[in-house]
Order: sequence, then C-alpha cells, then structure tokens
Amino acid sequence: MRAVLSIGSNMEDRRALLGTVVDDFRADIVAASPIFSTPPWGVEDQDEFLNAVLLIDVPGTPLQLLRRGQALEEAAARRRIRHWGPRTLDVDIVQVVEDGKEVLSDDPVLTLPHPFAHERAFVLVPWLAADPVAVLRGRPVAEWVAGLDPADAAAIKEVGSLL
Ligand code: AMP
Repeated sequence: MRAVLSIGSNMEDRRALLGTVVDDFRADIVAASPIFSTPPWGVEDQDEFLNAVLLIDVPGTPLQLLRRGQALEEAAARRRIRHWGPRTLDVDIVQVVEDGKEVLSDDPVLTLPHPFAHERAFVLVPWLAADPVAVLRGRPVAEWVAGLDPADAAAIKEVGSLL
C-alpha cells in the first residue's frame, strides 16, 4: 500500500521530532519533501510549525498505519513533559492508494483522504515538492496548490532537508 503522510511539529526540537518519523519509516520511504516552515495561526507567541510530507510503501492495513503514526505522536508527547509547547508531533494520513486506487473512508477513526488536506497549504505545498504528479480526489495536487489563497501558499517556506 502506498500512503502519503503529513507530519508537523512546533516544539523547540521540532526537527528532531520530525526525524523520529523519518527514522521509523526509513525503510518504507519512496519520496520525501523538504522541511517547510508554516507561520502559526491564531496564537502569536508560538514557534513556527515545521511541516513535511512523506510518500511511503508499507505493508499492512491503513488502520495499522494510523496506529503506527499515533505511537510516534505518543512518544513525542512523553518528551513534551520537559517543555510547554502546545503541540508536539502530528502525523496525519493524507491519502492511501491500493492497487492504483485512492482508498475512500468516511470512518471518523480514519477518514480517507484526510478531510482537510485539499485545502491546507502546509500539506499541499510539501506534497507537490515530494511528488510533482500527485493526484488527490481525482485532481492533480498542482491544481489544488494553484487554487490556494496566494498569501497562504507564499507563507510556506522551504527551510531545509528532511532526510
Ligand atoms: P488530530 O489530533 O487533529 O490529528 O486528530 C486525531 C484524530 O483524528 C484521531 O482520533 C484519529 O483517529 C482521527 N483521524 C481521522 N482521520 C485521520 C487521518 N486521515 N489521519 C490521522 N488521523 C485521523
């Protein structure tokens, strides 16, 4: 199964936290975006979010992949005890493709594709960087990106390499 993961963190050691996901999936990674910084919305005194997208080929079911991502989130949350940042590590499954077809699920435990991915610059811009021919909901990700509010798209800045 091919899956697209969106990973994000706005903790102090956020690059290291993104790195825990890369380490866990290292053998499965097909492509990775660079790391992008995203301005925090709402609360001003937070660090910027760092976001990236991974394309992976993994065995097992979508639910098993969700649990694997959640285990990484929980490990990151345990590290947070020494900090006071509001958000540690977020691992979202953006899309799963099986036998060349996008898996569709309206189960609230695992909704596929991720219900907001097509409108979030911090998902779409890194995804396009990782996979220029990606398609979401039958439409090229390049077109979703072109349709973003230009201010939102411009706020996402490449800040380094993930791998
Ligand atoms: P959040 O903290 O916003 O990442 O939401 C986590 C919750 O969303 C968990 O209870 C997941 O079971 C649920 N969820 C539903 N669809 C997805 C998805 N595509 N990727 C990750 N979590 C999901």
